[in-house]
Amino acid sequence: MLSNLTPQPADKIIELMKLFREDPRTAKVDLGVGVYKDATGHTPVMRAVKAAEKQLWEQETTKTYVALAGDPAFADAMRQLILGDAAPAARVAGAATPGGTGAVHMAFELAKMAKPDVRVRVSSPTWPNHLSILRHRGIAFAEYRYFHEATRGVDFDAMMADLADVGPGDLVLLHGCCHNPTGANLTEAQWGAVADLLERTGAVPMIDMAYQGFGDGLDADAYGTRLLAARLPEVLIAASCSKNFGVYRERTGLLLAIAADQATRDIAQGSMAHLNRQNFSFPPDHGARLVTMILNDPALRADWQAELEEVRLGMLGLRQSLADELRQRTNSDRFDFVARHRGMFSRLGATPEQVMAMRASHGIYMVGDSRINIAGLNATTVPILAEAIVKAGV
Ligand code: PLP
Repeated sequence: MLSNLTPQPADKIIELMKLFREDPRTAKVDLGVGVYKDATGHTPVMRAVKAAEKQLWEQETTKTYVALAGDPAFADAMRQLILGDAAPAARVAGAATPGGTGAVHMAFELAKMAKPDVRVRVSSPTWPNHLSILRHRGIAFAEYRYFHEATRGVDFDAMMADLADVGPGDLVLLHGCCHNPTGANLTEAQWGAVADLLERTGAVPMIDMAYQGFGDGLDADAYGTRLLAARLPEVLIAASCSKNFGVYRERTGLLLAIAADQATRDIAQGSMAHLNRQNFSFPPDHGARLVTMILNDPALRADWQAELEEVRLGMLGLRQSLADELRQRTNSDRFDFVARHRGMFSRLGATPEQVMAMRASHGIYMVGDSRINIAGLNATTVPILAEAIVKAGV
């Protein structure tokens, strides 16, 4: 049986991590995988997470199963973090999943359960795993234009033109903030226009929220999500705690499903628990429990928010210094988009050949589409990257 298997395509980012590790040069810069790193290249456990873990170790008396949708207190705390009071709790179903990837997976499965011929619209480009999960689940999808190569901003006219023909029950996948891989995001006015379009057409937004707090702040990053939640009858939100709580390996995420009324919400809640049961039964609890403790304890929450803000401002500082460095070296404002982008990523707009040239000349590792992880930089490596960009003729 196993001899029938054929090799699966390797994940490009995981491959890149391996290439970086195997590069014998000492002066090399890893701007590949989407993990936050401090100035020393370390991905720390956040202070509030450590403190919550200590409390949990002292207080936890059992590790028996929790519930198929996870602890309702986790869904409730995350609902408030993401939605504020944009939608009444009685209309929001929530289920814990293994990471944000699990939530993306569940969102697609739930949509397919509700509408077997569902069609998903995804931005071009998007997080590559969106596409591979859709293919894996056999769900039809089409891309809408999103990134304007010349300005490295959002090509909003093209996006709206491509979405003009969506119909009731089509799923439109949007990044809540900090678009991966481009770093280019919708303005508040553009979110308003997207809400108008979805309201008019009956298409359902699915928001991938993997970086809340990494862009303009916890509330600002939720602006678009809250707007859609306030205006539309149905919204799916796949959220990850991996980045903003730094609990990557704990696999902590959840799906929120906003329904038109409470009866539909109750059925959605049951369906989400059912999907967990079919896929893996109970979702991981450790990370979710830490997140719940942090969000519900004023002191832990204040410390978490303070550290998250340090992380966010650190990345903004790196963006500004890279943009300044490139402004000086090119004597132009061509790279000012780096400072305008938000989140962990920016797409530089380099060709695959230029990406390879930067790897060869300066040991700089970025994804082949020229996505860089801003958090992979520090004060020493910003000038090295700027030099490589200029030398490669980007
Ligand atoms: N969605 C996007 C856009 C991401 O970039 C990521 C992680 O890189 C995720 C979802 C899911 O992350 P995780 O499954 O690690 O929580």
